[in-house]
Amino acid sequence: MGEHATSPQWLLHLIETEFYELCENHNDPNRAKHCNFFCVDCTKSPPFCDHCNSNNVHKGHQVIQVSYIFIVPAS
Ligand SMILES: [Zn+2]
Ligand SMILES: [Zn+2]
Repeated sequence: MGEHATSPQWLLHLIETEFYELCENHNDPNRAKHCNFFCVDCTKSPPFCDHCNSNNVHKGHQVIQVSYIFIVPAS
């Protein structure tokens, strides 16, 4: 029995995902949206913005809102 639990797939995906990109669906320069939502149940889907989230595409899914996250290697 290892001491390290295997990370769930969605968590690995989350770590590799770049957030705060401009949303491709809502990239009006005046009202540009940044993608800081992430769906745990759609691990293949890119991050999306709050407008996308309100389209009920992920209704009933577990959606995470990401605040600024910084992942730095331990020295
Ligand atoms: Zn959007
Ligand atoms: Zn989803």
